[in-house]
Amino acid sequence: MNRVYIKTYGCQMNERDSEAVAAMLRARGYRIVGAEDDCDIMLLNTCSVRDAAEQKAIGKAGNVQQRKKKNPDFVLGILGCMAQNRGMALLDQLPDVDLIVGTQKFHQVPDYLDNLRAARDAGVPLGETIVDIGEEPGSQNTIRDHELTEKQVNAFVSIQQGCNMDCAFCIVPKTRGDERSRPMDEIVAECRTLAEKGVKEITLLGQIVTSYGRRDYAHTGGVTPFVQLLDRVHAIAGIERIRFTSPHPRGFKQDLVEAYGRLPKLCGYVHLPMQSGSNRILKAMNRPYTRERYQEIVDALRVVRSDMYFSTDVIVGFPGETDEDFAETRALFEVCNYDMAYIFKYSIRTGTPAATMEGQVSEEMKEARNQALLAVLSANSERRNATLVGTVEEVLVEGPDKTGRKFTGRTRGNRVCIFDADPRLIGTLVPLHITRASVSTLYGELVLSEVPNNK
Ligand code: SF4
Repeated sequence: MNRVYIKTYGCQMNERDSEAVAAMLRARGYRIVGAEDDCDIMLLNTCSVRDAAEQKAIGKAGNVQQRKKKNPDFVLGILGCMAQNRGMALLDQLPDVDLIVGTQKFHQVPDYLDNLRAARDAGVPLGETIVDIGEEPGSQNTIRDHELTEKQVNAFVSIQQGCNMDCAFCIVPKTRGDERSRPMDEIVAECRTLAEKGVKEITLLGQIVTSYGRRDYAHTGGVTPFVQLLDRVHAIAGIERIRFTSPHPRGFKQDLVEAYGRLPKLCGYVHLPMQSGSNRILKAMNRPYTRERYQEIVDALRVVRSDMYFSTDVIVGFPGETDEDFAETRALFEVCNYDMAYIFKYSIRTGTPAATMEGQVSEEMKEARNQALLAVLSANSERRNATLVGTVEEVLVEGPDKTGRKFTGRTRGNRVCIFDADPRLIGTLVPLHITRASVSTLYGELVLSEVPNNK
């Protein structure tokens, strides 16, 4: 009973949490398996961003419970946001679950599994469900272990947990708790260790990274703690690229804009959640910025780097959104010329202020607005990729592509590239001559005369 399969739902934070749990379990002697049929312990790391996401995980857990009927020693655990959000109430639908562990208790999973295993070995039937969804001071510091594959070139580093912004549509402040930042020295040490293991690209992760350390560190010379952190990660030998997600427009100050001008390792790709282009709706969403301020940030970044790539999150059909509001969103969406966007049709999220707001928008209207933005995005992305044909882009070689016949990597602007290469080039930055483009992918050939000799 030591083969663990972890299924992850939701965002990159969840991916990172699952990776850390896997690393902790492996250190405790558990085997992490890649196929659910091969496991004795299944952990579902869940997402609560929408009701549908929770229903999906509940459906999965319901099916998995059947395995317990055939094998009473089989262990099923539910971790993460839904565990936090629903707690004991999950047992009404899923009475056979063994473990319910919230977002501040991931590091306790190895102990809980050890206890279950000891009980099983002693011939004691697995009894009451273990439910641990309490708050724990310092829990943000426990997501630090990595499961690096051989020749892994990029890694996510958690810098912060939680959020205090209370956007009207978002459940995160409830599931992830208050904003808590990790100590800067620990983050830098983690990045240095990753660099020593061959990682070239670091993505700093948090629900609202631009608020990083605001209660723990002073601004020095107008530089926010988040930019201080970027400076320190930038100074690490071996790290070639730095990305981060997600910032909040409110925290995107001049020092961060200027950082793009002076830190060459900071990739020219910014994910800047817009959510709406209507000031009226932004206010209803409790997003403390205006469309004008948002555009100012985008323009300022384009001044610093003319070839900057942008992506965003937009919600269409937020309660009360009129045709005029949507026209403003669409106009801002067009002006910002996004290369990538996550467009969400608003769906009621139980437990958030927006769930009970008046003026819920019909599904047909949401779909029409969704399609309108998707069409703009697709045209933008195609146009941007077409301009890259004939240019030479710096690509970080990540490994074989899905077919296993070619290699894949990404440009600084986060465009996925497919090309012929040699395995010894994994982890190196290579110049790629772009010969062809689709809406989402670039195809190219290595500029062999400039490829680093990596023998
Ligand atoms: S800033 Fe992001 S994580 Fe925080 S409440 Fe708003 S949407 Fe949710």
